[in-house]
Amino acid sequence: MRLEGKVAIVSGGASGIGEATSRLFADEGARVVIADVNDELGAAIESDITNGGGEAVYQRLDVTEEVRWEAVVAETVARFGKLDVVVNSAGISAPGRPPAEEQTANGWDAVMAVNAKGVFLGVKHAIPEMRKSGGGSIINISSIYGNVGSKGGTAYHASKGAVRTFSKAAAIQYADEGIRVNSVHPGFVDTPMTLGLHSQPGVRDERVGKTPLGRMGVPEDIAYGILYLASDESSFVTGSELVIDGGMTAQ
Ligand code: NAP
Repeated sequence: MRLEGKVAIVSGGASGIGEATSRLFADEGARVVIADVNDELGAAIESDITNGGGEAVYQRLDVTEEVRWEAVVAETVARFGKLDVVVNSAGISAPGRPPAEEQTANGWDAVMAVNAKGVFLGVKHAIPEMRKSGGGSIINISSIYGNVGSKGGTAYHASKGAVRTFSKAAAIQYADEGIRVNSVHPGFVDTPMTLGLHSQPGVRDERVGKTPLGRMGVPEDIAYGILYLASDESSFVTGSELVIDGGMTAQ
């Protein structure tokens, strides 16, 4: 029970890495708010967790809407009494993964709104409640594509780079209040987001070939890293970037 007594919000908590995190957090004793735009999946995961003896509730949250962040944080505190952990996992990929000259301005704005502004708003609205509890842990899901470049996905790279540095800035801004902020940088992971891409044999083989450990990641590989950062085991860790990529960016 590595999160016993803790209350957590997981944005994007109904799918992929967020789903694995919601389930693992509940297994480890946290009370979990699964916050997503996917109502059907969110409700199903809430049922699974509660039927298994855990504590979880689904809340609809579009991370780009500040009023919804305010409401979800308020509802979390009304229901569970406090807020200890926020995982900002909601994200979208850039359709077609365009290089810079093919990236439309509208497409850029759409990706930045979810992946960068959505994370900023999650941090902004977590801070006041964490301050009341005397501290907390915020985990922002970036990507290895926030650290290194690739042939496409211009707006995605920019959004994930923004998450990386924003997390460090917030870590410094709130360290003296015991609020820790870290980023997590997954490599290539099989999730609903990557299903279309990873089911193309050429892409799959290329990505596995670039990964020294020789396989795709699974959501649980990332969730265990997030669990560490959420728990008190990482109480001396802030402003760090946890790369979980099978060795891809070590080369
Ligand atoms: P996923 O399975 O698609 O999960 C993302 C969840 O976020 C989905 O339920 C999605 O709903 C939801 N979402 C999308 N827009 C939202 C919004 N505006 N407000 C609230 N929720 C929203 O993807 P994933 O692969 O687990 O990705 C999770 C995070 O890891 C993302 O930030 C992603 O960029 C990052 N990441 C993933 C990989 C990878 O290889 N999978 C690698 C590096 C980083 P819909 O399905 O309805 O859109």
